[in-house]
Amino acid sequence: ALTAGIVGLPNVGKSTLFNAITQAGAESANYPFCTIDPNVGIVEVPDFRLNKLTELVNPKKTVPTAFEFTDIAGIVKGASKGEGLGNQFLSHIRQVDAICHVVRCFNDDNITHVSGGVDPISDIETINLELILADLETVMKRIQRVEKMAKQKDKDAVTEFEVLTKLRDAFEDEKPARSVELTDEQQKTLKTLHLLTSKPVLYVANVGEDELLNVDQNKYVQQVEELADNEKAEVVVISAKVESEIAELDGEEKEMFLEELGIKESGLDQLIKATYQLLGLATYFTAGEQEVRAWTFIKGMKAPQAAGIIHTDFERGFIRAETVSYDDLVESGSMNGAKEKGKVRLEGKDYLVQDGDVIHFRFNV
Ligand code: GDP
Repeated sequence: ALTAGIVGLPNVGKSTLFNAITQAGAESANYPFCTIDPNVGIVEVPDFRLNKLTELVNPKKTVPTAFEFTDIAGIVKGASKGEGLGNQFLSHIRQVDAICHVVRCFNDDNITHVSGGVDPISDIETINLELILADLETVMKRIQRVEKMAKQKDKDAVTEFEVLTKLRDAFEDEKPARSVELTDEQQKTLKTLHLLTSKPVLYVANVGEDELLNVDQNKYVQQVEELADNEKAEVVVISAKVESEIAELDGEEKEMFLEELGIKESGLDQLIKATYQLLGLATYFTAGEQEVRAWTFIKGMKAPQAAGIIHTDFERGFIRAETVSYDDLVESGSMNGAKEKGKVRLEGKDYLVQDGDVIHFRFNV
């Protein structure tokens, strides 16, 4: 399963946020594919469409879909040079598929900032630089290997050498791999390098609990947004402290609390949705009388592969996917209504599953 790693300098609010994640946490019994590990938190993906489908179908049970966050602790500064803990930090990042970078945007004189004052841009640069230096090392090693073959005009080596030198130049300018423009062909080479700075990133601006309502006036948030804009990355503003309080409440209590705060959606819910997108994930639904359920698939999956997420038998014996889009189903009022209107399609093995599809798989056992 794909996972997003939570990184950040010490004292920015990572543990507070991660505690909120595990508190709010999903019951792992429902999600046997999820990892059981103290550093992994399973979150359910909030999706109003699931509530609507439940109203329509009135099933015995409704199950949201889920995915994982990984808490990446460890020493940051000097990690690229470091042995032990620093290396561990980097190798944990290597294992995740996207990065949620938590940045301190709250003022609190009682909580020491590792480098003196609150300065989100410098914080971001500190971490990014460690990742860039580690990638530079990877790339330089690789250059040594292929340079000779490239000079002998070995075709693959020439292609790879081009990519490597482009990356090296970017790293020497302290720019991450994701900022380097590459052709589709070159992207393939990039993938084989497993670099840290080619992973997608979003920034989590952690503001003080009393600042949630006037985020617009928070100059730290503005700085983070500007930096993110340049990188075409997203920013989610949260107050980790508030999230850890919200996480202790259930359904109705939570809604009342949010209303009191004057916010529509908790920061954690926003973060979950944004991270889901960042990981390239999307949702299809199954809707039967027993169970209405959301399933996570990776964008670009074809119907048999998506069916395999429910059960390997579904993939192996795949015949077809009876599919209706969520919007068509809701507009028709019922599955039968959708059938009468001709909105239920019979899709074959080459069908690219779309976010919001409601699917009934037919398969041979
Ligand atoms: P980590 O080192 O990044 O894991 O940071 P922690 O989550 O341990 O937070 C460091 C300190 O900052 C703790 O004392 C938290 O209670 C505090 N903290 C975290 N988020 C907030 C916040 O939104 N507002 C305030 N005032 N303090 C916070």
